[in-house]
Amino acid sequence: MNVRVLGCSGAISTGPDAADDPGGTTALLVDDDILIDAGTGVAVLTDDELARIDHVFLTHSHLDHIAYLPLMIDAVGDARRWPLTVHASRATLDILQAHIFNNLIWPDFTRIPSPDAPGVRFEALETGERVMLNGRTVMALPARHTVPAVGFAVCGETACLAFSGDTTTNPEFWAAVCALPGLRHVIVETAFPDAQIALAHAAHHYCPRLIADDVRGVELKAELLISHLKPPHGAQILEELRAALPGVSLRALRSGEVLSL
Ligand SMILES: [Zn+2]
Ligand SMILES: [Zn+2]
Repeated sequence: MNVRVLGCSGAISTGPDAADDPGGTTALLVDDDILIDAGTGVAVLTDDELARIDHVFLTHSHLDHIAYLPLMIDAVGDARRWPLTVHASRATLDILQAHIFNNLIWPDFTRIPSPDAPGVRFEALETGERVMLNGRTVMALPARHTVPAVGFAVCGETACLAFSGDTTTNPEFWAAVCALPGLRHVIVETAFPDAQIALAHAAHHYCPRLIADDVRGVELKAELLISHLKPPHGAQILEELRAALPGVSLRALRSGEVLSL
């Protein structure tokens, strides 16, 4: 199983700070057919690559995680023979239906080209539930954000990757992650530096101090890969994380890299 990082930035940016990821917002491609979040990182895919995606798992409804979902359904619909399946919590699916696929912002692709053969079908997936897809298992993990949210564990036959999605203080996530067999990588967001801890509380994101409080008591046997760094604070956030979590293996996740499991 391969996980290709299409985008993992906290905002669109081409900033000069080398520690900030110049790529798009959150999107991870598992092998060639499963997409986790559909942020602007999806823009790097060719039409052929887009058409091969059969399943999209969404952590939550915020634009930096769904921006390309409506567009990709439309772009490669003619090249596909069955609907794209979108997996998310019922609450997130209801938000998408009401606010995106509402025939005002975008056509209701759950009913066109026809209700019998639509462009997209929604499938609810709640925290703790899992979907098995040709030897890969995707399980929804707990998250705490300003809107209904989940993280995901993606497991192949021998190894697992965990992804926090957008979250703030979340001991339940770490308990679930540590119980995963063959845990290899943990992609975790850290959107803000400690100087913006008030903003981290208000926007329900992590800053280094908050993530360190969660990780300190946990026996973690995997590398932490930090995502969702808000430009231009990437270098500072990483410096604060290393100071707050001595002995923990961590680095910034990079757009374009491929994690093999
Ligand atoms: Zn969010
Ligand atoms: Zn986000």
